[in-house]
Amino acid sequence: MRPTHLIRASMALATGAALTLAATPAGAAPAQAPSPTPAPTLAATAADRLVSSPAADASLRIATGDVLQRTGVVAGTRGLQYVTYSRTHQGLPVVGGDVVVSTDAAGAVTGTSVAQSAEIKVTTTPAITAERAVEVAKAQLAKVESASGATLKVLAFGASKLVWEVDVTGVLAGGKPSNQHIFVDASTGKVADAVDLVREGTGNGYYYGNVTINTSGSGSSFSLTDTTRPGLKCGGQNGSAYTGTDDAWGNGSGTNLETACVDALYGAQREIDMLSSWFGRNGVTGSGSNPPIRVGLADVNAYWNGSYTNFGHNQANTRQATPIDVVAHENGHAVFQYTPGGAGSGNENGGINESTGDIFGALVEAYANNPNDPPDYQVGEEVDLVGDGPIRYMYNPSLAGDPNCWSSSIPSTEVHAAAGPLNHWFYLVAEGSSPSSGQPASPTCNSSTVAGISIRKAGEIYYNALQAKTSTWKYANIRTATLNAAKNLYPNSCTEFTTVKNAWNAISVPAQSNEPTCGTTPPDPTGCSGTNASDVSIPDNGAAVTSTITISGCSRNASSSSTAAVNIVHTWRGDLVVDLVAPDGTSYRLKNSSGSDSADNVNTTYTVNVSGEAADGAWKLKVQDVASQDTGYINTWTLTV
Ligand SMILES: [Zn+2]
Repeated sequence: MRPTHLIRASMALATGAALTLAATPAGAAPAQAPSPTPAPTLAATAADRLVSSPAADASLRIATGDVLQRTGVVAGTRGLQYVTYSRTHQGLPVVGGDVVVSTDAAGAVTGTSVAQSAEIKVTTTPAITAERAVEVAKAQLAKVESASGATLKVLAFGASKLVWEVDVTGVLAGGKPSNQHIFVDASTGKVADAVDLVREGTGNGYYYGNVTINTSGSGSSFSLTDTTRPGLKCGGQNGSAYTGTDDAWGNGSGTNLETACVDALYGAQREIDMLSSWFGRNGVTGSGSNPPIRVGLADVNAYWNGSYTNFGHNQANTRQATPIDVVAHENGHAVFQYTPGGAGSGNENGGINESTGDIFGALVEAYANNPNDPPDYQVGEEVDLVGDGPIRYMYNPSLAGDPNCWSSSIPSTEVHAAAGPLNHWFYLVAEGSSPSSGQPASPTCNSSTVAGISIRKAGEIYYNALQAKTSTWKYANIRTATLNAAKNLYPNSCTEFTTVKNAWNAISVPAQSNEPTCGTTPPDPTGCSGTNASDVSIPDNGAAVTSTITISGCSRNASSSSTAAVNIVHTWRGDLVVDLVAPDGTSYRLKNSSGSDSADNVNTTYTVNVSGEAADGAWKLKVQDVASQDTGYINTWTLTV
């Protein structure tokens, strides 16, 4: 029997327009033409319909006792909408149960992001007490400043568990600040997982000379408080904004903290303006507010702690850690926390969080375009934090010892290093592998070349993907989300989509089964096709063999209705598995094996959707005989893309 579930809409967004129309009394004078239904309402209606549809159960992983509750409708750019849901199970909040449904401006669903990998299966009766859970959580920190009570929840990062969540702030062994959601297994009393909202960065200061910053005050009473960007202010470690008797701030010295605030406010103001102007985002949090800034941290570091940013100094203690890329990095953690799914758990998710900071650093440098700090893709290049130049290189992470390419070891790689592949991906999308803009070349992991589409387009695609984020995000999810974003932001072009896809291939993140394709160009009968009539024998129950057709001069994307006319001579065709392999290595299955198809020979024209692939390049017909006794050979095949 299909599990039952119901949907509660937490916001009164949906259906309003339709109900108003229906309520017009019969015979009344014709009302004014109804105004068009707003995109968020269309999105909410469509998303609610999807998540309440029985057919949606499999992908949404809805178990008996689950309730999905709509928590918001987040705007992307160009009318794209992202409808977010949280989940409860038997009335308990599910951490990692979040879902995002994406729609276009007209309310057509374009995709779903689902945090869970499996349906929830837990007992809802705890074996250990809330008091015991609080003790366990507090013991994780060297010094506890505050701790919440314990709340019973279901943790759905991987296999589901009943947990007590305790929020603890304080200091870790080693002296680093910590602000953690700690999940104590309610069956065993062991720590099941923890999410630390504190994200460390790095930086320097006194960079931008005489700049105009927004402050407040009048007469002889002024404050480093930006009333035009709510929440934004800058001051020392006690959290209060610096004040003065006039509206002149700082002295240009690298050790002067008021000067550090000038730099930090300048960078934060550019970031908030960039978010608004390029992405239509209202403040760092997306709901109009912005985190306050503290300077004078007594550490060679900077961090975001979940509610404010805090900046220290370089190792030589001659500069403060407040240039744009450091300030924007820390606020990038805030954007990550304030987009759907929040900040997740584990090193791969943490690496994505770090890279998001670096991406925002590069974006804000590009937006500010300040001659004292020309836009680049290094992180902390002015800092000389430990006397060693930049701390990260987005175009070639290996220059700082970080990985350029994704691999299965990323989940166990330290978070700033785990940012390397995503930084590299962003650079390839923005600038390409061999930029003509003066930016450096970027080596790919598969010897391919990638043509960049500009940092602003790369940023907009990544920004929209972030709106489809869930709490369990990994690299594979971003691949799918950015391809969806590129396709939906540029519905009349595959250039952006192809660049995004090529960049993922170039950093070794494999194709995902649920990722979209792009393009509906019909095949061109005058070209874009080829034939290979050289026989290739197929070993009995052996390795796959291939026959290659190289397409050149087609100079467009392959068609969604490409054809492969395949002629194979064989004494039992059910033994054969046949694939078409695109020039970038993506495989498209044409024919599966079959234990019952005993007929001779394959002589079939297959229609295959390979849109999103570049037409030009070496295409392969791959054939494998997966059972014994019968043999044959590829006779000829013709490809039209
Ligand atoms: Zn960071």
